[in-house]
Amino acid sequence: MNELLKKSASEQRKALLNKEVSAVELVNATYARIDEVEDKVKAFNSLTKETAIETAKKVDEKIAHGEELPLLAGIPLVLKDNMNLIGSKTTASSKILENFVSPYNATITDKLLENLVPIIAKANLDEFAMGSSNENSAFGKVHNPWNLNKVPGGSSGGSAASVAACEATLSLGSDTGGSIRLPASFCGIVGMKPTYGRVSRYGLIAFASSLDQIGPFARTIEDAAMLLQVISGYDPKDSTSINAPVEDYTKSLNNDIKGRKIGVIKELMGEGLSDDVRKAVELAIETYKQQGAEIVEVSLPNLKYSIGIYYILATAECSSNLARFDGVKYGYRYPDAQNLLDMYTKTRANGFGPEVKRRIMLGTYALSSGYYDAYYKKAQQMRRLVKEDFDRVFKEVDILISPTCPNTAFDIGAKTEDPLSMYLTDIATISANLAGIPGLSVPAGFDSDGMPIGLQVLAPQMKEADLFNFSYKFEQAHDFYKQIANV
Ligand code: GLN
Repeated sequence: MNELLKKSASEQRKALLNKEVSAVELVNATYARIDEVEDKVKAFNSLTKETAIETAKKVDEKIAHGEELPLLAGIPLVLKDNMNLIGSKTTASSKILENFVSPYNATITDKLLENLVPIIAKANLDEFAMGSSNENSAFGKVHNPWNLNKVPGGSSGGSAASVAACEATLSLGSDTGGSIRLPASFCGIVGMKPTYGRVSRYGLIAFASSLDQIGPFARTIEDAAMLLQVISGYDPKDSTSINAPVEDYTKSLNNDIKGRKIGVIKELMGEGLSDDVRKAVELAIETYKQQGAEIVEVSLPNLKYSIGIYYILATAECSSNLARFDGVKYGYRYPDAQNLLDMYTKTRANGFGPEVKRRIMLGTYALSSGYYDAYYKKAQQMRRLVKEDFDRVFKEVDILISPTCPNTAFDIGAKTEDPLSMYLTDIATISANLAGIPGLSVPAGFDSDGMPIGLQVLAPQMKEADLFNFSYKFEQAHDFYKQIANV
């Protein structure tokens, strides 16, 4: 592998500016790496070579003319395959969209292209982003670059695995209930979910619209901060997008945290936590203490309900969002239907995989007239309580820390027969989606089998700069992020 591929985006940018490498060479080196390892990792649904090379050429022209380079220009990036790139397939890893070609760009795609970021591939995911292991994809499983027998986490498994395997420098994922942070933690990289509304969701295939948020994957906090800066901002095409200026998130990375307050979430340090993961969080506590921060234990008493709340709200919202896949408007249509109703039902029965069907059934039930008050309404009320728990503790502390997941990556196949145990993987991440707050996972060491551990850091709404600052302080105190998976 070309050694430059192991480097961060900011180092690759320097190499481009110093003319040590051209953008086209960097993209080609990335494709050579993909040729080398992709048959083992299987991170991608499709490659988007034409657009990647075209963008890289524009970068090289700018460099040749001595023009200023936009942030992240020329840095190879992967989109999760539920985000639109005009003219390329967007499948959401579902049979129902197997041949769907995006007729327009997502807003994040437009922003990336304006910044001359070469989009090199579309990454595999759990079908419609429903899952925690990437095993629910209609197009095969993704393998964890640290151990090919383990899952990469999900649902943004391909996005995370590709960056961990140096098949890309950066990628984007979507996080509805942990789908960026969990795979980042399982693959030993940084994954960040912004404040709900910070990044436009226009052109992202909707799963649960009150929870979905797009965010960056990178090997360093600085890279993730730069990528967030490029993709965030107000978008009139997404009515939930927040109209607030975009900050320079790299400016405050190194701010002193002396005297600032960090809360450790009590409920996530209890039973069920593996010893190695506990030690990693304790290491973070020690690191922050040495840097002069004050550590306090905080309690979020309603956090224990978050999985239950999530699986009512997310399934209810997805049952409504996925109603549009009916064989008429998009994608696959069952070919031999007897009549219209037969066409609808057979299209959906054949087009959706088992987990997606399970969610639609659960969600439709929760929204049905006899049960709406008992389930959907109650879950909305409980969601409010979870948010109020966060509001209360954030009056006391600046930032929260916890494990990203109680365990490290599990074996492929270990949880596929037991959806409930799969759902429990997200115990630490889901509450941030319910509350709309930003969170990230930063590499925090390895377990006794050499699998990566993630530390979760959470901040109040719109406090992304703080989130990056605290995470950077931990990252720079250790060398975990410098270790690269040996695929
Ligand atoms: N694992 C969760 C689910 O299956 C979260 C998925 C996500 O964040 N997209 O719904």
